[in-house]
Amino acid sequence: MTDCLFCSIAAGAIPADVVLETEEVLAFNDINPAAPTHVLVIPKRHVASAAELAPEDATLLASIFEVASRIGGSIEGGWRLVTNVGPDAGQSVFHLHFHVMGGRPMSWPPG
Ligand code: AMP
Ligand code: ZN
Repeated sequence: MTDCLFCSIAAGAIPADVVLETEEVLAFNDINPAAPTHVLVIPKRHVASAAELAPEDATLLASIFEVASRIGGSIEGGWRLVTNVGPDAGQSVFHLHFHVMGGRPMSWPPG
């Protein structure tokens, strides 16, 4: 998708502070961090949101979770993995991304 911000980051056309990369997955620091660690994990190919995932995306999803777990594993005290779907949930970029957040105590439920 040419007009998608995260497709452009995945293609290297827009710079990002990359933390980890595999063949299918990219992880980079959130530009507006809401926690001491706030990394976004995305599939390199365009998927609009978690609502668009299909059974054939199982391997991709496992790779995303593996990358998220590698990042979260280095955070002392625990970490949160969040994906927002749709405007009411606060999704602002319509390319699937998982927020890996940690490094401070967090409340539940989120606002
Ligand atoms: P969401 O609101 O769940 O769709 O999350 C989108 C996230 O993308 C927000 O936390 C933004 O701060 C982050 N973001 C937006 N633009 C960029 C960018 N160019 N590089 C890194 N993170 C970004
Ligand atoms: Zn995209």
